[in-house]
Amino acid sequence: MPDADLDAIGARVSAARRAVTDRGETFYQGPSGTHLASVPPKERWDDWVELDSRAWPARRERHYLLVPTTCFNCESACGLLAYVDRGTGRVRKFEGNPEHPGSRGRNCAKGPATLNQVTDPDRILYPLRRSGPRGSGQWERISWDEALGALAARIRAAITEGRRNEIMVHIGRPGEDGFTERVLASWGVDGHNSHTNVCSSGGRAGYQFWMGADRPSPDYTNAKVIYLISAHLEAGHYFNPHAQRITQARANGARVIVLDTRLSNTATHADHWLSPWPGSEAAINLAIAQHIIATGRYHREFVRRWWNWAEYLRACHPGLPVTFEVFEEVLATLYTGFTFDYAAAESGIDAAVLAEVAETVAGAGTRFAAHVWRSAAAGNLGGWQVARTLFLISALLGAVATEGGTFPNALNKFVPRPIHIPPHPGVWQDLTWPLEYPLAQNEMSFLLPHFLAEGRGRLDTYFTRVYNPVWTNPDGLSWMEVLTDESKIGCFVALTPTWNESAYFADYVLPMGHGSERHDTHSYEQYDGQWIGFRQPVLRAARERLGEVITDSRQVNPGEVWEENEFWIELSWRIDPDGALGIRQYHESRARPGSKLTVDEYYGWMFDHSVPGLPERAAADGMTPLAWMRRYGAFEIASGQGASYEQEVPPGELAGMATAPDGRVYTGTAEPLSPNIVPTGVPEPDDAGRRPVGVQIDGVVRRGFPTPSGRLEFWSGTLAAWGWPEHALPGYIKSHVHPDRLAAGQLVLLSTFRLPTQIHTRSANAKWLDELAHTNPVWIHPADAARLGVARTGDLVRVETEIGHFVAKAWITEGIRPGVVACSHHMGRWRLDGGPRGAGGMMATVGLRRGESGWRMQRLAAAGPYESGDPDSQRIWWSDTGVHQNLTFGVHPDPISGMHCWHQAVRVRPAGPGDRHGDIAVDTGKAREVYLEWLKLTRPAGTGSPGGLRRPAWLIRPLRPARELYRMPQHARQAR
Ligand code: SF4
Repeated sequence: MPDADLDAIGARVSAARRAVTDRGETFYQGPSGTHLASVPPKERWDDWVELDSRAWPARRERHYLLVPTTCFNCESACGLLAYVDRGTGRVRKFEGNPEHPGSRGRNCAKGPATLNQVTDPDRILYPLRRSGPRGSGQWERISWDEALGALAARIRAAITEGRRNEIMVHIGRPGEDGFTERVLASWGVDGHNSHTNVCSSGGRAGYQFWMGADRPSPDYTNAKVIYLISAHLEAGHYFNPHAQRITQARANGARVIVLDTRLSNTATHADHWLSPWPGSEAAINLAIAQHIIATGRYHREFVRRWWNWAEYLRACHPGLPVTFEVFEEVLATLYTGFTFDYAAAESGIDAAVLAEVAETVAGAGTRFAAHVWRSAAAGNLGGWQVARTLFLISALLGAVATEGGTFPNALNKFVPRPIHIPPHPGVWQDLTWPLEYPLAQNEMSFLLPHFLAEGRGRLDTYFTRVYNPVWTNPDGLSWMEVLTDESKIGCFVALTPTWNESAYFADYVLPMGHGSERHDTHSYEQYDGQWIGFRQPVLRAARERLGEVITDSRQVNPGEVWEENEFWIELSWRIDPDGALGIRQYHESRARPGSKLTVDEYYGWMFDHSVPGLPERAAADGMTPLAWMRRYGAFEIASGQGASYEQEVPPGELAGMATAPDGRVYTGTAEPLSPNIVPTGVPEPDDAGRRPVGVQIDGVVRRGFPTPSGRLEFWSGTLAAWGWPEHALPGYIKSHVHPDRLAAGQLVLLSTFRLPTQIHTRSANAKWLDELAHTNPVWIHPADAARLGVARTGDLVRVETEIGHFVAKAWITEGIRPGVVACSHHMGRWRLDGGPRGAGGMMATVGLRRGESGWRMQRLAAAGPYESGDPDSQRIWWSDTGVHQNLTFGVHPDPISGMHCWHQAVRVRPAGPGDRHGDIAVDTGKAREVYLEWLKLTRPAGTGSPGGLRRPAWLIRPLRPARELYRMPQHARQAR
């Protein structure tokens, strides 16, 4: 089309837009601010009319009730609007909820694909019980009543026989704030296990040692410089809510710096893309920090007031005067070794480029927004120092809780108090919190098979919930070995909407709802504000809006699919039918004593009593708070939080307080632990049981940070006291894949990256997503390919790890650094021959056998078209669904954070004549040796640990046992 015509069209469009703007109709008046053409105004959510696209050219109208819920496909919890067809009573589609303050009406591809999951022909619709040997693929349908009766009897017996530590619930994606932890607390069980140590513990630990909060909350929108160590725009934590704000900032002129060894989608949007050698990121951060220090561009007043420099000087330089000027002199010497040349030698990035980046960062001042979550922090031995050194830059610039800076997450997250808070359990679970890892950020979940194998304990009843340990964890065949051993796990219950590699070995498979079929509340740090979101069964809300009474989510969900909350309440009642065990009281109605708590009362109470501003807002609209949340799905509690650590503690709160010499202000007496299952951001009591309430800064008591000192901990007394003084300052730990540690010919395998349109194993039952992304070739640089003899993209390569190998297709690309290969972790889904279909478009059928040299998995049939209730399953055109690389990785627990260090030292060679795509070989004997090697790196807690504790009391723990359980058991080994 000629340019003149395009100009004319553009002018007409602009004129039309102006006309609409003049009428005041252009932009939605809620959080999204998007164009009205894409967002139904909330006043019309009871009867939204669209033309039926399938009826075209006839103009047939369809009428919809629009019902909010939240997406459950990643932890962002973006708002969704379900379009419930008033004619059919079914959900026609999901789009963004413009009333949601975090996602603001926008979603990634996985949000609308919730519809695929709901209508998935392969989903599990009824409770199932194993009817043959474990893993044989034989199942029988049973009633919920039978399943609940059997499980309640087992759990009740374990509790009454003093075997509480034999009950465990292992959580994959939480997607809610504390419900499951409280269920376990009500049973008196320390049985919460999480996936976090294979996900984000490295990043969390680095942040926690600094500021007492384990997550950063960057204010991207207002930043001048954004520094990302990850593919954050496409696959980061809270990535859609963050990505839209980063994009907004870029449009306003912000500079974006991305450290990512791969040319990710995020890297393509960067002003500076740095492709460092894996594990060198902390060295780069320290070179930038050194530049800021050496050029005097740090925020001197912020450092003086808020760093714990005095504590550091006293501990590490006892001969020096404790003055800020002396500290500055010391600081000037600490990182002089981290020159740009040194960082260049470590990272492979030109020193001049690093200098230019450092100058950009130094110029950001307090508008420096930075983030690392998984990525390098999850890949490397010492990866937690990547987060710690990154926050060092923020702390030097004073860019902490400033406009455009980085907040502690606790300031931008809100967790309401629930109707019942059970006490802390009176047991300590060593299988998840062993003495070897006293500083572990989260449960040592991925070591469970090894702990069970060496007889540290046994599980009577093991639940997985939105979790697939065989597939997700490293060393999955060791998982399979214990899951099939009834002497180690008496009963395995998979709570899951869909089949997965672990559920095949379960005794009970119980169908749970997707994001539009269950209740949850959540709040995540996505900007400088606080919001709460409400996930709900959308057909329940729709039918209630039309006047029906619904009392159980099974009345509206497909088949007998249930929601977890109702399931846990019912199970708890059956465990303690007469209330004699003291469990039932935490699942009872307050309004109707003696009867069961309903989800309406649970959330109604929470919204009435615990969400500031919501009752008033609802009343203004003539609704109850619960009705308001069912109608709009999310509520913004506050925005523009600012630096709340600066708040003065009112004199009235200080009566009876004691001030320590370092300025920490405490309650005078020992207090119980806070109910951490309702995280508050309030500091935990110290080891003597005193609860900090503030810190004196220049004679004024301010709120401060939830750290032992109340300040930002440049020097961590906790790390020093618990056996790691050499890592108490932000520093650089050479990775297990540092070039010095690689044998000749080895490469580094990056195995952690996500694809934007898939999410672990959660999204495989979404046909639209499967068509977009279904395979995971191995990225190889052309120079490496030539050296290794890999001729072309698509050729098979054998990737050898320390415990086995996998065979995959090569993708020869300059998008990866030479010496490094990469393989995305979503793919390679499999089902055992003869088992249920699982995810028809994404799972290959495999044979698995054990020989003298270990396990061998071979593909028997690729994914392909198949008959089902959905005609699209006949249209599957792909057969390559990648390879399950995680099976071939040994466990690499970081001795401090406990994070599994995902990067692998591998050899890559062209596949041999006997190799076929998808082949996997694993020696679980070697896997055990790897576990023992990494175990040697630890410095266990012992009777000489500070305070005689197993673990510092102030560190976060998702489910916290009673205080006395923190004391070392008598039989514990001496600390080293
Ligand atoms: S999967 Fe996408 S739409 Fe869903 S919560 Fe995550 S970012 Fe939001």
